[in-house]
Amino acid sequence: MPNNRQRIGAIYEEVVNRNPGEAEFHQAVKEVIETLEPVLRRYPHYAEHKIIERICEPERQIIFRVPWQDDKGEVHINRGFRVGFNSALGPYKGGLRFHPSVLIGTIKFLAFQQTFKNALTGLPIGSGKGGSDFDPKGKSDSEMMRFCQSFMTELYRHIGEMTDVPAGDIGVGAREVGYLFGQYKRITNRYESGVLTGKSPSWGGALVRKEATGYGTVFFTEAMLKARKMDLQGQTCVVSGSGNVALYAMQQLQILGAKVVACSDSSGVIYHKDGIHLDTIQRLKEVERKRIKEYADEHKDAQYMEGGNIWSIPCDVALPCATQNELDADAARTLVANGVIAVAEGANMPTTPDAVKVFHEAGIAFGPGKAANAGGVATSALEMQQNASRDAWSFEYTETRLREIMRNIHADCQRTAEEFGAPGNYAYGANIASFKRVADAMLAFGLI
Ligand code: NDP
Repeated sequence: MPNNRQRIGAIYEEVVNRNPGEAEFHQAVKEVIETLEPVLRRYPHYAEHKIIERICEPERQIIFRVPWQDDKGEVHINRGFRVGFNSALGPYKGGLRFHPSVLIGTIKFLAFQQTFKNALTGLPIGSGKGGSDFDPKGKSDSEMMRFCQSFMTELYRHIGEMTDVPAGDIGVGAREVGYLFGQYKRITNRYESGVLTGKSPSWGGALVRKEATGYGTVFFTEAMLKARKMDLQGQTCVVSGSGNVALYAMQQLQILGAKVVACSDSSGVIYHKDGIHLDTIQRLKEVERKRIKEYADEHKDAQYMEGGNIWSIPCDVALPCATQNELDADAARTLVANGVIAVAEGANMPTTPDAVKVFHEAGIAFGPGKAANAGGVATSALEMQQNASRDAWSFEYTETRLREIMRNIHADCQRTAEEFGAPGNYAYGANIASFKRVADAMLAFGLI
């Protein structure tokens, strides 16, 4: 009989063999299952029912052709994806990513992580993710519309408010969700609000959804600091990215009295020692859809570093909010040497496993994405609740719910980490608490 360590090693090997070339998916699986040994020790029936093996295999994967025409009439072909990973706790739920780097392995890693993130929220949502290798950069509104319509012309038959509920992610914001919903409504002849989240509040979206992931990451950071008898007031912060998550993380940091000195996009870094003017970044990114380079043209005392390394800027709090594997071990060592006290992942898997190790060894408060950025999907679930009851909640009420959810997730991770012998290790706590929730539901349903 293999021991639990050997059993987990064999499961990982099998995942690698069955999913060749999907390095990000392998990384995401390894990060979770490596922490489950104490769970199998305490609950051997999970092994007997092969729960880990089942949880690592997506329930369904859909790949489809997305043909569309640009403004000059030229035809382009992209690839669309939707992976339904686990529906033990509710309909598949997770965003759509439009970015040229998207492969099936990217979507699988995101959907796998979503399983645990969604379980942590305590809300009735399963896990999924989707997207396309389409590049939204430089596309006109009408090109975006034609692409979204073509994408939905296949996707619509696989989704539904009780089946699978997509939302936004990288490259998919309110504009794209609008085009996608419009096409769904046209094809199905149904005004099914609950089929997509991240909608505009004027036609069924939840207030605070736009802000939720960034705000939630900051609420989680606040809770980590509070556990160490500190707060965000006066802390110097660095936030990577300048998209949806980064923008609203910066906004909430400023509301709570912190000073944000740097942000970035995939071309470079803005460093503004006296504090970033968020209104400028917001206008450049949300309204004018420009590069952050332009910020330095408007604020002469700010510095723009083309291709710069944002993690070399000294700070107390670092929030990676751009993309996966953007913060490696060297960057982590630099942050630690510069005195960072807390790091929370606004993005999905932005910190490499070696970098996570550096933070844990240095005793830095580290909030893993599946806990720290769960505020977005939690608020999506609140949007689904409002759609189901044909109701619309106020900003204040929704924000209070979000803050409570983030505090509960923090407490859940903290308690579980302690219970399983790894006090202060939020990654352990998040993995174990969420795994148990999904595993118990799977067991209740029998072998399906
Ligand atoms: P956006 O598309 O709004 O913004 C993404 C930001 O990250 C942009 O500034 C972009 O720069 C930068 N970026 C993207 N890819 C790269 C790359 N390869 N290298 C460097 N920078 C990059 O996306 P979101 O803000 O929605 O998502 C950011 C992260 O947060 C993702 O990991 C996403 O999965 C995660 N997340 C998002 C949620 C949400 O509610 N939106 C919920 C939970 C997690 P540029 O414009 O130059 O590409």
